[in-house]
Amino acid sequence: MRLLITGGAGFIGSELVRRLVATGDHDVTVLDKLSYAGNLANLSSLVETQRWRFVQGDICDRDLVRELAAETDAIINLAAESHVDRSLRDPGGFIHTDVFGTWVLIEAAREARHERFLQVSTDEVYGEVMTGRVTEDAPFLPRSPYSASKAGAELQIRAYMETYGFPAVITRGSNTYGHNQYPEKIVPLFIVNALEGRALPIYGDGSAVRDYLHVSDHAAAIECVLTAGTPGLAYNVASGNEISGVAMCDAILSATGAAESLKSFVRDRPGHDSRYAVDTSRIEALGWRPLVAFDEGLASTVAWYSSNREWWQRLRDPDYWAFYTDTFVEVRGSVTPTVARTHSAAP
Ligand code: NAD
Repeated sequence: MRLLITGGAGFIGSELVRRLVATGDHDVTVLDKLSYAGNLANLSSLVETQRWRFVQGDICDRDLVRELAAETDAIINLAAESHVDRSLRDPGGFIHTDVFGTWVLIEAAREARHERFLQVSTDEVYGEVMTGRVTEDAPFLPRSPYSASKAGAELQIRAYMETYGFPAVITRGSNTYGHNQYPEKIVPLFIVNALEGRALPIYGDGSAVRDYLHVSDHAAAIECVLTAGTPGLAYNVASGNEISGVAMCDAILSATGAAESLKSFVRDRPGHDSRYAVDTSRIEALGWRPLVAFDEGLASTVAWYSSNREWWQRLRDPDYWAFYTDTFVEVRGSVTPTVARTHSAAP
């Protein structure tokens, strides 16, 4: 297929692009606006060939999207504003990209009579799951502007499926970690802070649980649903690694060899979901399984951040620190971005 992959310079998108280009089965066009989270360095291992190309642009640009849809057979949409904390400050920006931008893509795909549309969504659309694991038929109960905008995108797609027989499939992935992730979400943030001897800010009492999925398993799931998924269906994707904020902090302190004293508790995120948990039987019936054990995935992620300091150090600019100090407020004051004196040797 000739694939248009949006958000392909981001964390999960770049892993997927590398994976799909390597198979040689597809022609790949990456469309990415290169927001603060998009990074062409994520694709630097790929030599531009006739089998893939990069286009810098916005999924909300209807003319550009129409033009690219006319030259391709299917779209995989990963472009999004993706960080819950940022959505608390700018819900409108999330609605614009995640809802309106997705509509621009599905409308262009419908006009171009695409064979398939794959929406990369999130397990956060179900809201918090206090007990058990939810299947794909569970209701949407999003509780943050981010998850509400991802749910809104899915509802547009659902309407197109019902109204126009639009051939869409959806993945609902859990919290993803691994190499090349912008250092704002918990795993890369804790790793780079530990490597620099800075405090690791844990929200609230640290009991909120997430199910951590390695980025290579997430990309494999997207490929699996692209090729074997049934149009009209959504597929949960998770690996069953349920880990609390405190346990993640402990695991990263241990994996980096950083000092226990870096553990720091900060004011909780408003509306913080306490747990997400999804049932993955449907995607497992297609043959997908998570392959990366959490300990192994965390060790390789720590090793990657440890040996790619240039990649993440230049991302920590004044805007980054302004967002950081505004977001993480220690119970006794702000978690200042200064290097702690108690740090022990990092690997
Ligand atoms: P990311 O923030 O690392 O990357 C998003 C990419 O989209 C960036 O390259 C950015 O430049 C691009 N982008 C943003 N707005 C755009 C626009 N208007 N037009 C074109 N490009 C734009 O995100 P990620 O973590 O790689 O997530 C990718 C997708 O997977 C998102 O849709 C997200 O909702 C979903 N998802 C993420 C996770 C996770 O834990 N990271 C889990 C489940 C689902």
